[in-house]
Amino acid sequence: MIYDTIIIGSGPAGLTAAIYATRAKLNMLVLDKNFISGGQMVDTYEVDNYPGIPGVTGMDLGAKFKEHAESLGAQFVRTKVKSIKKSEQGTWLIEGKKETYETKTVIYAAGAYHRKLEVPGEDDFSGMGVSYCATCDGAFYKDMNVVVVGGGNVAVEDAIFLARGSKKVYVVHRRDELRASKVLQEKLLSLPNVEMVWNSKVNAIEGSDQVETIVVENLKDGSIREIIADGIFIAVGITPDSELLAGLVEMDKAGYIIADETCKTSASGIFVAGDVRTKELRQIITAAADGANAVTSVERYLIEG
Ligand code: NAP
Repeated sequence: MIYDTIIIGSGPAGLTAAIYATRAKLNMLVLDKNFISGGQMVDTYEVDNYPGIPGVTGMDLGAKFKEHAESLGAQFVRTKVKSIKKSEQGTWLIEGKKETYETKTVIYAAGAYHRKLEVPGEDDFSGMGVSYCATCDGAFYKDMNVVVVGGGNVAVEDAIFLARGSKKVYVVHRRDELRASKVLQEKLLSLPNVEMVWNSKVNAIEGSDQVETIVVENLKDGSIREIIADGIFIAVGITPDSELLAGLVEMDKAGYIIADETCKTSASGIFVAGDVRTKELRQIITAAADGANAVTSVERYLIEG
């Protein structure tokens, strides 16, 4: 069978594309490697800027998106895509774990994954005090001291979430100003058990069996401080999950796939949606908008070529 479109990824972009594609009566499939749909949403405790559902948890919002797509008949297959190749007929062949799927178009919505700090101890203590997901692991640090690294929305949301149960939260940020939205900043800075460690970077994560000490350098005066902590939550941004399309589509230096709001890439029949696309604002709502735009472009492509 040749599909009209195959959507890769089931975060807000992929799931919205699934909703639009089923409503457009396209013969479609969603491929995703994750057990739980929702992409980075799943790691977010509270989503407070998605219109109409203030305070919804990321997990619930992801589940709602998926239920909506399934209620319209969207088909999902859990598989890790190994390769994407063009066939001699001009269709696209997507190699999954067990099967290869043929499709006229691809909506690539694989999103992005957590960037690492690349400091000594980070890999050694992964899962033993080093985490990239506060909502997943935060509960293990009740009444303990934790460090959050980063100054973006994710770091600040993580710190606010952790401050509810942990004894003390140190936020280590390389500048003296946060990148996160003002409303999140205000919330964070009002919490009594949060200490900001400005102009600082983590040099090492140390311990015996578990994380015990975070070695932090002040970038202004070079002084070193050792923070005694049981856990460290790293939230220093994201890296696009675009390797599968390397050599097939144009990307920018950071690996984001180049496309405008039409979601058309440089390869005929491949469309890109969500955080993996070049764009100014990476949020659930802009990812969802991409999903809708990508399907509109796919429909046009299927008619006009
Ligand atoms: P981000 O906005 O790119 O912020 C990354 C933070 O980490 C920045 O503060 C950055 O410092 C710092 N950083 C980067 N590399 C570092 C390094 N090597 N060492 C130390 N610090 C480093 O990333 P994010 O917070 O993960 O968010 C990802 C995307 O999702 C963003 O577009 C964000 O807006 C979006 N998002 C939105 C919401 C929301 O609207 N509610 C929630 C979550 C995520 P500098 O500030 O100095 O660059």
